[in-house]
Order: sequence, then C-alpha cells, then structure tokens
Amino acid sequence: MKINGINVIVQRKNIKNMYLRVIPPEGNVKISAPYFVSDDEIIEFVNSKMDWIMDKRLKIENNEYIPDLKYVNGEKHLLWGEEYTLQLIANNIKTAFVNENTLYLPVSKRSKIKNRQKTLEDFYRAELKKELDNIYDKCTSVVGRKAEDIKIRKMKNWGNCKKNKVITLNLNLARKPKICLEYVLIHELCHLIEFNHSKKFKMLMDKNCPNWREIKKILNE
Ligand SMILES: [Zn+2]
Repeated sequence: MKINGINVIVQRKNIKNMYLRVIPPEGNVKISAPYFVSDDEIIEFVNSKMDWIMDKRLKIENNEYIPDLKYVNGEKHLLWGEEYTLQLIANNIKTAFVNENTLYLPVSKRSKIKNRQKTLEDFYRAELKKELDNIYDKCTSVVGRKAEDIKIRKMKNWGNCKKNKVITLNLNLARKPKICLEYVLIHELCHLIEFNHSKKFKMLMDKNCPNWREIKKILNE
C-alpha cells in the first residue's frame, strides 16, 4: 500500500505487535503485523510514526550513512550530478580534481578510509564554495535578501537558515546537479523574508524560482 506517497510493504506474521522499519535505498517502509490487525489500523500505526519515518528517510536521502564506501580505485562517486570513477594518485598533489570521467584523489596508498573521505569532502567543500561564488549575487538579487554568512556542513537537511541570517548548506549538495544548490540557496534566502513554509513562502518560491518543485524532486531522487 501507499501512505503519504511512501511505499509500505506489509508482512503478516504470527506476532502480537506491529513492527516498522525504513529500508534503504528507497526508504520504503516495511511492516510486520499480526494477522488480526486491519489495514486501517496499519495505516493509523504508520501515520502515528510518520515523523520518525520521515526522519529516517531524510537520513537515507542525505547519505548520512554512506554505506560501504572504501575510497578505492574504481569506486563511483558523484560530483554535480555526474558519476566519476575514483582514481587514487600520489599525494604530493594538494587537492582532488576531476578530468573526463575520473575523480583523482590525492591520498597515500596506506591512508585510512577516514583520511580519504576527508580529502574528498574537502574537495566537495571547495567545489561548493566555487559554485556559490558563481551564483550568490544572482540569487541574492532575485530574492532581494543577503545572508550574514554561509556555512557548509554535513547535516540532516539540505539547508537551514537561522534567525541571525546565517545560512548553512549541506555538503552533499556537491553530489547533486548544480541547479539543486541554487534552489536550496534561494529557498534559504526566502526564509529571510518568510521564516516558515507557509503559503506565502511557497508563493515567494514560485516567484523567485518558478520550477522549484521539479528541482526539489531531482534533489530528493
Ligand atoms: Zn525551509
């Protein structure tokens, strides 16, 4: 069944209580339910756990738990929506770079996964900063607001905007097509006018980023 657009797979079992799991990578919900529980009760149960489900799905979406990445030659990694094959190179080169379909990661052969991950994340951060330089003026003039500061972090949401006008953007935006970064930035800048996601806010988005709904879909693919 489908609840709130989420695929829910129900498995009937000889058990007394219902159990619920969110399964990567799609974020489908799997429910183990006793035979005597009705579909309506299952729907009610899923709805009562919706906040928790959405939180789990967001974590899966945001690659907060990137599974089994080893940062070895041949591994696939994304940059701006394109897939690249990882190639480790001598670490006398300072930063990672891409050429054709290859992402070159300057790390020593004996480096730990953690160091390799950090090298790649530094690269993502630098790429994001470069792209932000390209689009910031355009986005701020579209919205008519400027941020006090922009930070880049690994985080649960794609972005957030605090009352002190500091915008934080998710490091993983570097994995997504560039248009997604622009959309998230405009979204957060709009929060400098409307702090919630009200109708007014959506109208503001319609005005400042007319195809934001499509971009949002791409972002969450
Ligand atoms: Zn928002």
